Amino acid sequence: MKNFINEDKIFDILGETQSPSRQRVKTIINKSLELNGLSPEDAAVLLNCEDDVVLNSVFTAAKQIKESIYGNRLVLFAPLYLSNRCVNNCLYCGFSKDNLNTGTRLLDTNEIREETKALISQGHKRLLLVSAEDPAVNIDYLEEAIKTVYDTREGNGNIRRLNVNVAPMGVKDFKRLKGTDIGTYQLFQETYHNNTYTTLHSSGPKSDYLKRLYACDLAQNAGIDDVGIGALFGLYNYKFEVLALLFHAMHLEDTFGVGPHTISVPRLEPAQGSDIASRPPSPVSDNELKKIIAVLRLAVPYTGIILSTRENAALRDELFYLGVSQISAGSRTVPGSYSSDKEAQGQFTVSDERSLSEVIEELATSGFIPSFCTSCYRSGRTGEDFMELAKPGEIKNFCQPNALLTFEEYLLDYNPKLAQKIKALITSEISKIPDPNVRKLTSSKMESLIQGERDLYF
Ligand code: SAM
Repeated sequence: MKNFINEDKIFDILGETQSPSRQRVKTIINKSLELNGLSPEDAAVLLNCEDDVVLNSVFTAAKQIKESIYGNRLVLFAPLYLSNRCVNNCLYCGFSKDNLNTGTRLLDTNEIREETKALISQGHKRLLLVSAEDPAVNIDYLEEAIKTVYDTREGNGNIRRLNVNVAPMGVKDFKRLKGTDIGTYQLFQETYHNNTYTTLHSSGPKSDYLKRLYACDLAQNAGIDDVGIGALFGLYNYKFEVLALLFHAMHLEDTFGVGPHTISVPRLEPAQGSDIASRPPSPVSDNELKKIIAVLRLAVPYTGIILSTRENAALRDELFYLGVSQISAGSRTVPGSYSSDKEAQGQFTVSDERSLSEVIEELATSGFIPSFCTSCYRSGRTGEDFMELAKPGEIKNFCQPNALLTFEEYLLDYNPKLAQKIKALITSEISKIPDPNVRKLTSSKMESLIQGERDLYF
């Protein structure tokens, strides 16, 4: 395994693009609006732009690209933590092995079912299964856990897409994971800077930098064609991490013909028992986080960007406009805390503590369409097939109607009060569907939902 993150090259690029002229930044912004993405060199120019006026044009371009590819939709999900018992020592994490505050909870099948029911009752349809690294969380356990989540029903609801963020495994186990019908396999490199990685991951299997770097390759080799990458911002220089994420995306695209399905941008949050988490080695300001998201949106326009509840409500509301396409809501980071143990301390501090219904109400009143859509992956539009559709903007013919249908289903089952308040928004969104046949079909599927049918999509 060769390290495809060439650190010297990244430092050279960052060095050569210092203090860019306004004209150079503007040329790159114009290029980005063609929706063909940007090279790491171009992205470095934008990252090195410290001029607030020009930076505002980068934000405006990010908004424009987000609008043209993703419209006003935002996909919602929640994490479901399985275990906080960990064999690793990640110095920034509340679950770290040597952290005296580390919990010892591993959910059994009944507890997973209860957690799933609690999440379905809120209206969730998409979950992210998360676990600390624990020998008990092996592929047998994961297969059972995933089956339990998919089999659970509560009222009219069920979980229709389960993404997974667990420790890397071998190809044989990844193949079994693929067999469980997961959506995306997601794993964050935390920091792409090798020395920093080694210092921060002092023991346990996670201390192997290259093994982690190649985990998404192994998942792809096993047939999991939607993979998600990410960096934990605050551990090392953010400009370096953004370029490394882009090189990782290029590596996946070159090797498998498809880049990452999503990029996550978690920022370090305080965690019980970790000094580093409270005093990030390379703190990232709110404005820098805005820049990170905007530059990623320009550089990889068709890759989903995921934002979690680590960020506070006010900042999240701002970041939605800059290119974020998926958000978690109503999250808890302790195993078992949706259905019991509601006061327990989690892996890190959750800053946006609004419930799912509060987030949805805010989104809808700001003109966003909250989406619980799972149709692409259930219709086989994944990996390269998804990107082929996404690139010419075709995906819009599916996404907008599907977002509206899943939102309507949520309103009918979980939030009839809000349904009354935003009736006009839904009607107006349907009228904006360009293809008259799709528009007509959407209206008729809406009617079927009102009559009691469920899970309707294109
Ligand atoms: N076992 C999996 C793995 O190997 O990545 C899951 C790890 S953890 C449960 C999920 C993610 O939480 C980590 O990848 C890390 O980026 C993030 N995380 C850990 N500590 C954090 C903190 N203090 N603040 C914010 N995010 C944190």
